[in-house]
Amino acid sequence: MERTSPEIRRIITLSSGESRGSNLLAIHRFFAEQKLPLKLDTAVFTSAKAPAIERCITAGIAYKVISAKDMRVFERELKELVTERGIKLIALCGFMKLLSSDFIQSVGIPVLNIHPALLPAYGGKSMYGMQVHEAVKAAGESISGATVHYVNECYDEGQILAQKRVDISDCQEAGEIAAKVLRIEHTLYPETIAKLLGASPLRVAIATLGCKTNFYESAAIVEQFAGATLVDFNEPADIYIINSCTVTGRSDFKSRNLLRKVLDAKALNPMTKVVITGCYAQLNPEEAKALGEVDLVVDNQHKLRIAQILAGARYQWQEIDSAVDYDYLPVQNMLGHSRAFQKIQDGCAYSCAYCAVHLARGPSRSQRFADVISQARLFSAQGFKEIVLGGVNLGLYRAGERDVANVVQALSEIEELRLIRLSSLEPQLLAGGLLERLQGIPKLCPHFHIPLQSGSDTILQSMGRHYDTKLIQELVAQIMQLFPFAALGLDVITGFPGESEAHFTETYQLLEALPFSYLHVFSYSRRKDTPAYNMKDQVSKIEKNRRTNLLRALSARKLREYETKLRAAKTLLRGIAEADSEILSDHYLRIKLPYPVAQGDYIEIELSPEVSCLY
Ligand code: SF4
Repeated sequence: MERTSPEIRRIITLSSGESRGSNLLAIHRFFAEQKLPLKLDTAVFTSAKAPAIERCITAGIAYKVISAKDMRVFERELKELVTERGIKLIALCGFMKLLSSDFIQSVGIPVLNIHPALLPAYGGKSMYGMQVHEAVKAAGESISGATVHYVNECYDEGQILAQKRVDISDCQEAGEIAAKVLRIEHTLYPETIAKLLGASPLRVAIATLGCKTNFYESAAIVEQFAGATLVDFNEPADIYIINSCTVTGRSDFKSRNLLRKVLDAKALNPMTKVVITGCYAQLNPEEAKALGEVDLVVDNQHKLRIAQILAGARYQWQEIDSAVDYDYLPVQNMLGHSRAFQKIQDGCAYSCAYCAVHLARGPSRSQRFADVISQARLFSAQGFKEIVLGGVNLGLYRAGERDVANVVQALSEIEELRLIRLSSLEPQLLAGGLLERLQGIPKLCPHFHIPLQSGSDTILQSMGRHYDTKLIQELVAQIMQLFPFAALGLDVITGFPGESEAHFTETYQLLEALPFSYLHVFSYSRRKDTPAYNMKDQVSKIEKNRRTNLLRALSARKLREYETKLRAAKTLLRGIAEADSEILSDHYLRIKLPYPVAQGDYIEIELSPEVSCLY
């Protein structure tokens, strides 16, 4: 969808003799102010008495009067002008005559009109200007607006290109409505013309749900739209992309809501493109499509290619379990994050009973080692001083003989890079020698995040996890021996089917005994097509919440104990400055610096009384 070189595209406007020219002047001004490769080449009037002519002369707009007494003569002369001036579009601006369908079909360029109300509710050949606003007023509407549409022989029943709504609940008179609607016409019309002629910078908006891997992929997706402007998801955009998540029922709910939201925007602006990808889309493509006019549902294996697919590249939906290759495109910008999330692995070789992620991500696939290094160098060259390595199951990373420890070692040799952080690592993959090989790499953040899920061997077995609590205790002891001040975070699921009070107590007691720093606690969420979905002894929502709250309270206590431990040792914290002098330190404590710093700066500071921890 890359916009072509800024060749000047010329348009003409058509206005009748009564026209005061407010829309054509607004078009002329907009093109100039936005510095667009567009020109209102000629304003055509059907009468020399048009008040707008004076204003054209003042504004330096060329104009031409063509009598419309005989519309066949008018249309012939108009066509000659279109050919002679290389015109790309005709915009009606208060034109009271009807163009013939022959003319519209044969002129070969778009003919647009702007209607001062929301079509199809308020339209019709006979209604012009104030009549429309009076009709809207008489109907007691609280919302009005403007509509840009193609002109076809049925005049304003042509396909709608864009609409904008305006609240008129405070308008007493039709004239007030007219003034409000006119204000929005003055941007909507030129914006739509510019978009249709591919002259305005493409506005791309992306919403990302879920994990760091998704955020990295969103950065890669956006980077493919060369020359486009990234806009906030709540702002008007030409392309809306949702990078969805399916880790819990709530993630599916949020993904659908985001989709409905942009489908509403598309209902108003049919030229808008709506794209959904990510794990919810991978597992529910038909459900997503059924929500409305979705332009594209893209599978996880092709998600980085959305720009190319929208530009016409051949695309076929892929079932993710057939994915073999690791798809990679370089990423330079992390969409405003101070630290760079670098995905190096995708998919998973396991199938835990509660998990839908592996169903949405497919088999484990690893990035080529050389690409991992070049991507890290790219981030470092962009000024990122911390890289967070990630994947769906990072511990499964393999490039020949090389594993995640080799990656950390190699990245630590990149001079400008100051910190390397590991995201979640399966316990059984962290045990078995990886820890020893990670020790002695100074740039590695002393921060380990492990998905424990339960402290009951019975539940771990029922979940289909690949370790038991004995391995966990040995692993944690080893972490504390090799990295005595490390932050240790644990994921725990409460209320897995069959989890009795006794099983929960086992979990609670194990956690109480472990020297961890914080917990991420999730209430079990039934996921379609997973073994646990049909398991009996599903735990009630109330009970899940009770257990979750108990563990969150325990986590808060442990985090304070961890902070006290580090303060007592006057631990040196390292980190990358975010906005407001905040840092997520290498020891995973979020701190506020006692002095201002620039976002992205590398900071070392002792955890002294002046440094406050943020919870
Ligand atoms: S390890 Fe288990 S929970 Fe994690 S992605 Fe794989 S199947 Fe899902």
